[in-house]
Amino acid sequence: GKGLAVFTSGGDSQGMNAAVRSVVRMGIYLGCKVYFIREGYQGMVDGGDNIEEANWSSVSSIIHKGGTIIGSARCMDFMQKEGRLKAANNLVSRGITNLVVIGGDGSLTGANLFRQEWSNLLDELLENNKITKDQREKYKYLHIAGLVGSIDNDFCGTDMTIGTDSALHRIIEAIDAIVSTAYSHQRTFIMEVMGRHCGYLALVAALASEADQVFIPEDPVPNNWVEKLCKRLQQERKSGQRLNIIIVAEGAIDREGKPITAELVKKVVVDNLQQDTRITVLGHVQRGGSPSAFDRILGCRMGAEAVMALMEATPETEPCVVSLDGNQAVRLPLMECVRRTKAVAQAMADKNWELAVQLRGRS
Ligand code: ATP
Repeated sequence: GKGLAVFTSGGDSQGMNAAVRSVVRMGIYLGCKVYFIREGYQGMVDGGDNIEEANWSSVSSIIHKGGTIIGSARCMDFMQKEGRLKAANNLVSRGITNLVVIGGDGSLTGANLFRQEWSNLLDELLENNKITKDQREKYKYLHIAGLVGSIDNDFCGTDMTIGTDSALHRIIEAIDAIVSTAYSHQRTFIMEVMGRHCGYLALVAALASEADQVFIPEDPVPNNWVEKLCKRLQQERKSGQRLNIIIVAEGAIDREGKPITAELVKKVVVDNLQQDTRITVLGHVQRGGSPSAFDRILGCRMGAEAVMALMEATPETEPCVVSLDGNQAVRLPLMECVRRTKAVAQAMADKNWELAVQLRGRS
């Protein structure tokens, strides 16, 4: 059977295990020899026990677990050609020519580069007598399918990344818990949620929790935000509301690009309104806990589709990313999605927020 390996790379997210499970089982079902690569690209470079053959039962009882059971890492070695050469050697020696990479845009970019270089890497390995002529010929094509695991929902081309829905559940649970105590004490509370370049989590959490105000990177507040915020909070209290909720995305900014932090918002509320104000920074709680049903099913569907894409690939097939479009699993050109994702980051850096939002829209 064909050699196929799955690995997780970059930040972890809930639902990655469902995807790993699905890749392994679909791969075995279709007759592949399936491998785990542990610790992302680091395991690929280091080889040895990091690359281990998977069987049907090695992915039992993992779908409900958060994070990734095969480990994830950032890997400097893979950024260098020397590291990628070692990685190629480790794959060829096991007959692996199909990769499912589960990670963010950095991980997918690395995979694309690896594929572009594959032929040259094999030539070099042959020259150095690391592989045989037969291996050079037999394994000359590398096929790549990517899945996006990220809690931020920050990738262009998919409606939902694997992990976003679970992170939202965590945020909403935390807000609900805090609301009950804030209500008792007539407090204003400010919650900082993850999302350095993408306000999706903050925005949706705000809608789902009846928040009074949300600050996100894509919609920088105008200069008079302080007055507007104070007026709104005051009005809410006057109309009988016992608490105020403000959600701040990590990357929130004003129109000059200056950060709007939870601390700053607190100072504004306390100085102007003297309201009892507390900050909660959710941090890694958002990445933790068990995956939601949605993320489990998303991981399953995406994983199965990725394996099918690899099995149908011809030598000309470009790397794809499997994504969700409406309710459909679709295959999109990997590099086009990565380029668009990077263009969004650039537009944000250029303070062209309209363009950023436009670029991020549906494919
Ligand atoms: P997250 O969204 O959680 O940051 P990510 O996949 O974007 O996930 P990165 O840290 O950017 O996370 O990338 C993960 C790993 O992918 C890197 O540590 C590196 O090993 C590899 N990688 C990223 N970019 C490249 C590149 N241009 N060339 C080769 N490898 C890369």
